[in-house]
Amino acid sequence: MSIRPIYLDCHATTPVDERVLAAMLPYFTEKFGNPSSISHVYGWEAEAAVKQTREILAAAINATPEEIVFTNGATEANNLAIKGVAEAYFKKGQHIITVATEHSAVIDPCNYLKSLGFEITILPVQKDGLIDLTELAKAFRPETILVSVMAANNEIGVLQPLAEIGEICSDRQVLFHTDAAQAIGKIPLDVQAMKIDLMSLTAHKVYGPKGIGALYVRRRNPRVKLAPQQHGGGHERGMRSGTLYTPQIVGFGKAVEIALAEQATENQRLTELRERLWKALLQLEGIHFNGHPQNRLAGNLNISVEGVDGAALLLGLQPVMAVSSGSACSSATTAPSHVLTALGHSEQLAYASVRFGIGRFNTQEEIDIVAKHAIATIQSLRKQTTLV
Ligand SMILES: *Cc1c(COP(=O)(O)O)cnc(C)c1O
Repeated sequence: MSIRPIYLDCHATTPVDERVLAAMLPYFTEKFGNPSSISHVYGWEAEAAVKQTREILAAAINATPEEIVFTNGATEANNLAIKGVAEAYFKKGQHIITVATEHSAVIDPCNYLKSLGFEITILPVQKDGLIDLTELAKAFRPETILVSVMAANNEIGVLQPLAEIGEICSDRQVLFHTDAAQAIGKIPLDVQAMKIDLMSLTAHKVYGPKGIGALYVRRRNPRVKLAPQQHGGGHERGMRSGTLYTPQIVGFGKAVEIALAEQATENQRLTELRERLWKALLQLEGIHFNGHPQNRLAGNLNISVEGVDGAALLLGLQPVMAVSSGSACSSATTAPSHVLTALGHSEQLAYASVRFGIGRFNTQEEIDIVAKHAIATIQSLRKQTTLV
C-alpha cells in the first residue's frame, strides 16, 4: 500500500479502536441473537449486551438506562428529538430556537418544520463562536417548545455553556435538546446538573463503529413526550422501532467506556499537540485562530489563512494530511462554511480555512510533519499570488 496522508479529520469520523472491535466481534457470529427474543439464550445474551451499553451511556451522562433510545447515529437522534418534540407539543406552541452554527442535522429538521408552519429563531454567535445568553433569553416566546444548542461544534470545536442554557430553559419550562455528537467521551456531560432534556449521541466520533447512536430522552421532571419518527415493532419503548444492532451497540458502549477512562490524560495530550501545531503555524502572519481559545475541544484547531485560495490550499495539503475545510457533511458543496461565516469572516477568508481534527492515534512526530508541510504550502501559495 502506498503511504497514506496523516489522518487529521477526527471530527468527520475516527477509526474503530482495536479494543472496541474485539468487544464487537463475538456479537456478529456466536452471539448473534436478536435482543428482542425473550424465549432463548441467544436473545438473552444479546439483550444483556444491549443492557450493558445502556448502563454505560446512562452513567456517562448521569441519566438512567431507560432514558437511552438507540438510533443509527446523531443525525437520526437529532431528527427524532426535534421532529418528535414538534409533533408531540405543537398544540402547546410552534416556535423553536436554535443557533446558526448548528450541524445540518439540526438546521435541516428545523427548516423542514418551518416549511410545515413552525417558526424558527436562529441565534447568531459571537466572534468566538459562543452564543450570547442574553440574546437567548430574549428569544423566548409563549409558544416556544424547544431550544436546540449543540454541546461541541464539529468545525471550530467550541463548547457552548450547557448548564447556563439549561437553567434558562428550565426557568421557562421549555425543553432543551443538545447535539452532543462531538462531546460524548471528550468533555463531562451531566443531564441533571445541566438540565438537559434530550441529548443526541453517536459512536463513530469517539473510536466506535459508524451506524450507531442514541437519543437521551428525559423521563422525570419533566417527562418528555416524543412522537416516534419510525414505526414498527415498538422497540425502544415505542420511540424507535427496528431490531437493535447488537454488535454496534456493544462497540458503542466499549468506545465510551474507554474514552471516559482516558478522558483526562487524553485531553491533556491532545491540548499539547494542538498548541504545538498552532505555535508552529504562528511563524506565519495572517493566520486566524477560529473559535474560543479555551472553551473548545482539545483536539480541534481551525484556522483561516489570509492571502491564499481555499481550494488551492486544500489541494496543497492533501498529499501529506487528511484534513477538511468546513464539515465533511457539506464539503461536497463549494460554498464557504456556514459556521465560519457566522463568526463574521468574509466569504474569502471562510473559504481559506482548515480544520485539523487531532485524535487518539496521532503522534507528536505527525504533528511536526503536518506543521512543516502546512507552512511550506502556505508560503509557496502566497509567493505565487504575489508573482501574478
Ligand atoms: C457527526 C455529527 C453529526 C452526525 O452524526 P452521525 O452519527 O454521523 O449521523 C451530528 N452532529 C454533529 C455535531 C456531528 O459532529
